[in-house]
Amino acid sequence: MSDLLLTGGPVYLGAGRTTEAVLVRDDRIAAVGTLDEVTERAPSAPRVDVQGGMILPAFQDAHVHPVFGGLYQLQCDLHDLPSAESVLETVRRYASEHPDEDWILGGGWELQQFSSGPERKQLDAIEPRRPVYLVDTNVHTAWVNSRALELAGIDRNTPDPADGRIERGADGEPTGLLHEGAETIMRELAPDPLPEQYLEALRLAQSQLHSLGISAWNDAWIETDIFEAYRKLEDSGELTARVVLSLLWDRHQGESQLDRLLEMRKLGTGGHLDANTAKLFLDGVIETFTASVLEPYLDSSGNATDNTGIDMFDPVDLDRFSTLLDREGFQLHFHAIGDRAVRLGLDAIAAARAANGARDARHQIAHVELVHPEDIPRFGELEVVVNAQPLWAQYDSAMEDLTLAYQTPERIKTMYPFADLLKSGARIAMGSDWPVTTANPLHEIEVAVRRTPVENPGAEVFLPEQRLDLATAIDAFTAGAAFANRDDDSGALREGLRADLAVVDRNLFELDGRTSKAEVLLTIASGECVFDRGLL
Ligand SMILES: [Zn+2]
Repeated sequence: MSDLLLTGGPVYLGAGRTTEAVLVRDDRIAAVGTLDEVTERAPSAPRVDVQGGMILPAFQDAHVHPVFGGLYQLQCDLHDLPSAESVLETVRRYASEHPDEDWILGGGWELQQFSSGPERKQLDAIEPRRPVYLVDTNVHTAWVNSRALELAGIDRNTPDPADGRIERGADGEPTGLLHEGAETIMRELAPDPLPEQYLEALRLAQSQLHSLGISAWNDAWIETDIFEAYRKLEDSGELTARVVLSLLWDRHQGESQLDRLLEMRKLGTGGHLDANTAKLFLDGVIETFTASVLEPYLDSSGNATDNTGIDMFDPVDLDRFSTLLDREGFQLHFHAIGDRAVRLGLDAIAAARAANGARDARHQIAHVELVHPEDIPRFGELEVVVNAQPLWAQYDSAMEDLTLAYQTPERIKTMYPFADLLKSGARIAMGSDWPVTTANPLHEIEVAVRRTPVENPGAEVFLPEQRLDLATAIDAFTAGAAFANRDDDSGALREGLRADLAVVDRNLFELDGRTSKAEVLLTIASGECVFDRGLL
């Protein structure tokens, strides 16, 4: 873009400070300051008046799965449906409209939509012939029909895999729900989307994320197919976002996979892509009792059980793999939800630092749903970035029915302790985990600030002392996420940085935290307009 001067609303500088105007020249921010100062630098630059809107650094998403988000829209998409009936109706319609597909694939259902189950029998009634495989919105549990179980060879005699669970009824038969490692069995069996479908999904997701003011992200789960889709989009010149690729470290393989990751890093770094991150899943999710916790889960009547969830790695292996990856210069990106998983992740990073020395590694732990109070200061001490998904820190039906009921009151107080982490010196980056939940940063920022649901702002506040102020939340989605994404060339509006900007239609500081009321009008990535709701 040749010169463009944006003014007419506050220009956000970070930490709550604002100024009046910003000048974009080619792919750079050429000037920021008062309108007089910026005008002096380019007296004849065309002007855009944002009419009381706000000009911000473009948002970055520190943890998102855009290709999954795009793929679901091309498959049987069950996201954001109001009830179990509507889920079943959508599956029925999709199956009848796609008679030529060998499998019915899709996802986005939620456990709390079903009073019991869901079960394979409901799917058998719709589709007895073809296998049906539908993942939940967390992408940790599969709901399958009897035909799919049969093809996978899963029956009443199949033992649970070490890293997963086959849900069984009172009669001992699999109900049709497969958690974690048991879900993986199905993933490996089902046909992969075609390369063209991955590309189509990525194109769709990129345009949707740009429309939300997002210019860059960390794709938090990269295996070969998605890796190739990014490379193709980059080679064809269609990739306009800057993307960190978090290369999956397969828990079923040992050190021998390092060579594969090194090769992918070489091929996947350059232009808009940066593949210097390794992703390790340390546990599952709370809703299915697979998150690794220090004290056992409670049962539905509030009594202790002997279940403490699943550790995806033996701690000794985890320390060794982490040390190896750190020595090779990789950034570690851990999925850790339970307080034991968070602790093991911190231990592994401590082990890597002890062995290799401290460096500007920006290792990060994503999700951090439960953090034992003793572990809070360790994030700052070990310079571990908190990769937070703030939208989840609210009272909603998933939280009340699936999470709070099975935790002790003491542990509930340790959920999403963002303010405590910040106070203890931790750096916070934010991300959506879309398609698990919405990719809209303006919704996520609202919950970070208010800890109430966007749809129900009058609801009880979830742990009010852990609310963040608005500037902190915006900074976590801009400078904080850019830091986590190792994108030091962006994340702020400062002369010389890459021109990544978003314009929203109102001043976010005048909404009493209800930032979901604002809408994105314009997104500029590397000086190029990638979304415009009629402002230019
Ligand atoms: Zn994720």
